[in-house]
Amino acid sequence: MKVKVKQWHAVAQWRWDTGYNNDQDDDGEDVCGICRVPYEGCCPSCKMPGDDCPLIWGECTHVFHMHCLLKWIGTAASKQQCPMDRKPWVNAERKIGSAPPS
Ligand SMILES: [Zn+2]
Ligand SMILES: [Zn+2]
Ligand SMILES: [Zn+2]
Repeated sequence: MKVKVKQWHAVAQWRWDTGYNNDQDDDGEDVCGICRVPYEGCCPSCKMPGDDCPLIWGECTHVFHMHCLLKWIGTAASKQQCPMDRKPWVNAERKIGSAPPS
């Protein structure tokens, strides 16, 4: 897990107000940058981790729960940017908005 700590510090001023009061994230825990829940957990919208709550990778190398990211991207404030570094979000796996196979 490569985490650019310097970059994290540069953008640390932005974060959701989760009510959490820990600043122990400096070494880059494996947590979703949006909801602060570990990747192996699920987003706040889901009850069970796993295939129903997949992770999503951006070309900027940030990883989020897919649901968290989609929710974020859906807000006007996001400007379609990564919430961590404010780079235009580009899905590293497949384009957002493409219909999932069903
Ligand atoms: Zn999340
Ligand atoms: Zn979810
Ligand atoms: Zn990013």
